[in-house]
Amino acid sequence: MSMMDNTLPTHAPPGFHLLAKPSGSTCNIDCTYCFFLSKEALYPNEKNRMSEATLEAYIRQLLESHRTPQVTVAWQGGEPTLMKLEFFRRSVELVEKYRRPGQVVQHTFQTNGILVDDDWCVFFKEHNFLVGLSVDGPREIHDAYRLDRRKQGTFDRVMEGWRHLHRHGVEFNILCTVNAANEKHGRAVYRFFRDEMGAKWVQFIPIVERATEETLDIANEGWSEQPGRKRLLYTQTGNLVTKRSVGGEQYGRFLVDIFEEWVRHDVGEVYVQLFDVTLEAYFGRHLLCIHAPTCGYGPALEHNGDVYSCDHFVEPKYKLGNIHQTHLLNLVASPEQRKFGDDKRDTLTPQCLRCEVRPLCNGGCPKDRFALSRDGDPGQNYLCAGLELFFKHTSPAMQEMAQLLKQGRAPSDVMALVAAEDARRGPYQPCPCGSGAKFRFCHGSRAPRSPFSGVSPAGAAPQQGPSA
Ligand code: SF4
Ligand code: SF4
Repeated sequence: MSMMDNTLPTHAPPGFHLLAKPSGSTCNIDCTYCFFLSKEALYPNEKNRMSEATLEAYIRQLLESHRTPQVTVAWQGGEPTLMKLEFFRRSVELVEKYRRPGQVVQHTFQTNGILVDDDWCVFFKEHNFLVGLSVDGPREIHDAYRLDRRKQGTFDRVMEGWRHLHRHGVEFNILCTVNAANEKHGRAVYRFFRDEMGAKWVQFIPIVERATEETLDIANEGWSEQPGRKRLLYTQTGNLVTKRSVGGEQYGRFLVDIFEEWVRHDVGEVYVQLFDVTLEAYFGRHLLCIHAPTCGYGPALEHNGDVYSCDHFVEPKYKLGNIHQTHLLNLVASPEQRKFGDDKRDTLTPQCLRCEVRPLCNGGCPKDRFALSRDGDPGQNYLCAGLELFFKHTSPAMQEMAQLLKQGRAPSDVMALVAAEDARRGPYQPCPCGSGAKFRFCHGSRAPRSPFSGVSPAGAAPQQGPSA
């Protein structure tokens, strides 16, 4: 091991959002679409658990690196609950040991919820953890891909974890993937989170699993272990996608379906990450790397101290170094990482450069840029049709909300404007969502109930969201 380089760079970013994977990619379930599972192949023969020494080095360096008062300590996986509670108690102690006066630390924790019990919740509550819970929708949808190693659905066990969080008043947000099983059910999925789970924060992540002609068949079977063969290491290559991936345009339709519900009932009550960041983008602020002009401020830390450019690029080519040899800030500020982040802007296709929603979209995440543009250029975002649809469709309402904010009013006042427009148009005109159905039987007052069973009645939460 070489000497630690302690000279900190002066041109470093004031803050960044690192995702730490204390148990590597190891998980207690085996979701079919989860290519992170395949990353175990990067560390064969290793027990993927972060040691006390790596934990301490990480927390110390993270706090030393920040010049912003806010610091986020973000845990994810794999499944971080596999580390046991003691590890996180220690992480909180270390934060207190190394926190400089004035530094405010927010702890976040992404989990599938299965091992979340009273002990975890008491701890989360005591230290104000913001817990991200992975749920893909009501039971039938969730259990399409979120399976355990015996190929059994995990919905009931996840809801058990959620009930614990709920009972203890732990703040949680829902992280929902958008995939082939739920892409046509945006509204039902959203209503389930809002009305049955009482969610106030929701985040949607498109599933785009790339494959080549050679890997497609294996990839379609899933990234989990198959009898008689080793896991395939997922890398960001190929211009095909698995059958579980969301359709490019369908991703936009899914978001629009939810937006049309949200803008009528929930503005200021339920926070949908992409809607929030889109509104911010109207003021030139980019809170989410995916739609920012450049990125590179969200590196990933593996259990052994290795740092990669991004959680989506945990592969050998994107390894920046190890915190036991090089200070975290030097890795984040390294020329390789700056190039990684600037390439996002510098590799936009001509189609993106002349696109009218480019200031909002910025070409999306580089990991999804493997399609051909309309002009036949490589490097177009696979989700482009959906992104364009979403940003264009939401533009009038977003502009109204931006205008309200500029006047010092609440963006939620947009709901009255939308209601007035609905009344003027009448119930039997086509729904503005673009479904082709009449408004009354789509996003209007007679909108159908979810066709899915959701949470079993025995454990159902009180209706918390406004009914629609
Ligand atoms: S590669 Fe994508 S996910 Fe990673 S930092 Fe850049 S925009 Fe964000
Ligand atoms: S909508 Fe499509 S063309 Fe426009 S900036 Fe986004 S990815 Fe590029």
